[in-house]
Amino acid sequence: MSRATNFSAGPATLPESVLKQAAADMLDWHGSGMSVMEMSHRGPEFISIAEQAEADLRELLAVPAHYKVLFLQGGASLQFGMIPMNLLAGRTVADYVHTGEWAKKAIAEAKKYCQVGIVASSEDKQFTYAPDQSEWRVSPDAAYVHFTSNETIGGVEFHWTPEVGKVPLVVDMSSHFLSRPVEVSRYGLIYAGAQKNVGPAGLVIVIVREDLLGHAMPITPSMLDYKVHADAQSMSNTPPAYAIYIAGLVFQWLKAQGGLSAMEQRNIVKAKRLYDFLDSSSFYKNPVRKFDRSRMNVPFTLADAKLDNAFLKGADARGLLQLKGHRSVGGMRASIYNAMPIEGIERLLAYMREFEKEKA
Ligand SMILES: *Cc1c(COP(=O)(O)O)cnc(C)c1O
Repeated sequence: MSRATNFSAGPATLPESVLKQAAADMLDWHGSGMSVMEMSHRGPEFISIAEQAEADLRELLAVPAHYKVLFLQGGASLQFGMIPMNLLAGRTVADYVHTGEWAKKAIAEAKKYCQVGIVASSEDKQFTYAPDQSEWRVSPDAAYVHFTSNETIGGVEFHWTPEVGKVPLVVDMSSHFLSRPVEVSRYGLIYAGAQKNVGPAGLVIVIVREDLLGHAMPITPSMLDYKVHADAQSMSNTPPAYAIYIAGLVFQWLKAQGGLSAMEQRNIVKAKRLYDFLDSSSFYKNPVRKFDRSRMNVPFTLADAKLDNAFLKGADARGLLQLKGHRSVGGMRASIYNAMPIEGIERLLAYMREFEKEKA
């Protein structure tokens, strides 16, 4: 068996120990005689798995008691619609910060339900920075303010928490969830698709302040009403049981790593290795404003785009996979989530140096 060094933006690399544990549990979870995939979600075995996963996530993020933690389906993209359906609560305006591809999708979906105010945008510079707080124009009538705290495609990360007064702050944290501590009480709602830093695709985690529940539009399907899920501990219907189990193993792994502060320190070191190299090179370049560079997704270009294919081919041959940038921005992208060890980055740097020497 050989494991590749996988720089995919998502579904992304998972901790090897988690995968090994899942393999060991596959046919017989803890003497139950069943795989987690075969268990009743109402049975004591799976209830214990789900309760432990929620407890560990609450501990990792220090989630206050007046927030619900939901394990839902449909990925982060379904949240683009669920958020306005549930949070407009009779208002007609919601505010959005436009920072790139994912913000754009959230905005387009929200426009089906309400008037969207663009609070701030980085479109003027091809989405290469996070608009400063001083540029935000929040409407006091807005039902909520939505932003994307890590733009996975552009590689732009907010390293600060916006302050929007009484208006609930809603955030898409999909691609840097659990990469650093978060002050949950600053937000009305946090959501994150699992396949970047947590586990299998399809699962989405929602952390929502209780007072925001129970105001869904009358047309909202029950399965898209947060309150229905909150009242049923995310088991209103059959939950994505196996995905929750894997997420639970990742939470335990994070605790064993020393929690989110320790993870953050490691992520800072990992990202710095890569950015320092890019900055020292005249062959490779990262377009993002230095202060706003993502610790998770590092896009970069080669001096000559005609070399892109040769670069990717050589990388593949060395087991350095999924380095192609998103089709909307081109170039390369290395996603270096929690589970990417520093050795993976060293292997990438060694190859990048070699390629530069050969081609520059
Ligand atoms: C990947 C991603 C999404 C979409 O997630 P799906 O699970 O595919 O719906 C949304 N927002 C951000 C920031 C992402 O990185």
